[in-house]
Amino acid sequence: MPLSLDGLAYYDETARLNHDRRMVWRLPPHSGMEMDNLMTDAHGRRVDYLRISITDRCNLRCQYCMPAQGVPKLRHDEMLSYEELLRITRLLVSMGISKIRITGGEPLVRKDVLYFCGEVARIAGVKSVSLTTNGVLLDHFADGLHRAGIQRINVSLDSLDPRKYASITGKDCLNQVWRGVLRASSLGLSPVKLNSVVMRGVNDDEIEDLARLTFQHPFHVRFIELMPMNGSEAGRLFMPSDEILERLVALGRMSPVNSNHSNGPARHFQFHGAAGKIGIISPISHHFCPACNRLRLTADGKLRTCLFAAQETDLGSSLRQGASDGDIRRKVREAILAKPEKHLLALGGVRKCISRPMSAIGG
Ligand code: SAM
Ligand code: SF4
Repeated sequence: MPLSLDGLAYYDETARLNHDRRMVWRLPPHSGMEMDNLMTDAHGRRVDYLRISITDRCNLRCQYCMPAQGVPKLRHDEMLSYEELLRITRLLVSMGISKIRITGGEPLVRKDVLYFCGEVARIAGVKSVSLTTNGVLLDHFADGLHRAGIQRINVSLDSLDPRKYASITGKDCLNQVWRGVLRASSLGLSPVKLNSVVMRGVNDDEIEDLARLTFQHPFHVRFIELMPMNGSEAGRLFMPSDEILERLVALGRMSPVNSNHSNGPARHFQFHGAAGKIGIISPISHHFCPACNRLRLTADGKLRTCLFAAQETDLGSSLRQGASDGDIRRKVREAILAKPEKHLLALGGVRKCISRPMSAIGG
């Protein structure tokens, strides 16, 4: 029998294991143990990291993210207000989320983004708040983000050649992005992580130049395998991370290093004597599903338990229909129990499992 759905309640695993279809909730003694139960999925993974996409709009058109023909956009009334996003975020934090990344689309194009960042950073229980941006507006916003309580920044940077950068992203603004990177770094929003999606024949000739940035700068340069988008295969552009690693090994002496941010999907390396680090992110060739600790919330309030999931839990509509805090927590708990063990890409499930453009999920 449900004792409380509005207090911090938790689902009784015993009932589930006994195939009891009734939801059994218990009042919590507010100990860490119950938080673990709430956010531990059916495969024993503890979920403590939330990525919030605050908009599906973007001021770039990266070829691997937004197809040339464009992508369907959310209507303004479909997007949750900051107060609605904050209500869901606070509930998720009360259940055990402690690390939050704000993303998009391009998060810095949404009005009053600094207000939202500040409110998220203020939530009791949040240990880390970071932001992923394409960097176009970073020079302008870096100080405000720092003041708002953002601790770390990831910047997409696929090329150091202004012309190639423009051809990949659709905008000639590499210098502007670079100014933002330097500003963020000087403010201590560190480590600044530079994310490069490697595409064979497009920017793979810059792997070494991008990696050399770590010789002098304390950046983490992260090479990301191209993921299929909107059901289309990455095909001939795909370069597996083992090949990227071989190229890096040829550049200089490099050792594996542990990262302080151990929950991320990157494998880390460092060139001897370098100021920064190298990260390799292999969602396709060495998927990191067994260690996945993530949830994603889209700008229209859909909770995704896997980047490639076909299923979403519509928290936004529930909230607008007057759901109580307990109702929302129960939906979250159900979603976590159904979090897939691994994504379907390796099984040829691309068409089935991607239901939104990357710009609407947040990467
Ligand atoms: N606009 C911001 C940016 O570009 O950093 C945040 C959103 S973007 C969707 C988040 C991340 O997803 C970026 O690092 C981007 O490189 C990555 N991404 C987008 N599409 C991708 C794809 N097809 N394969 C691999 N990474 C992708
Ligand atoms: Fe925009 Fe980021 Fe997608 Fe590029 S990767 S189009 S910057 S959302």
